[in-house]
Amino acid sequence: MNTFLLTLFLTLSPVSREKTVFICYSRSAYAYHADSLCHGLQRCTHQIFRISRRQAEQKRYQPCKICFREAER
Ligand SMILES: [Zn+2]
Repeated sequence: MNTFLLTLFLTLSPVSREKTVFICYSRSAYAYHADSLCHGLQRCTHQIFRISRRQAEQKRYQPCKICFREAER
């Protein structure tokens, strides 16, 4: 039940209805970001792409510890 509610909340989150995330297209980048203004993303010197969170996870990106810290709890 809790898992279901959490999934529902994430799916219907008003902040990111499309569930898109931002990634830095760099060999050293490992995280996807919920916010394009995230400090971790600001350090990116390469192109920044906006893709769906599902795509990011398929590409082995991990949630950014800065901008996903609150959402995961
Ligand atoms: Zn971030």
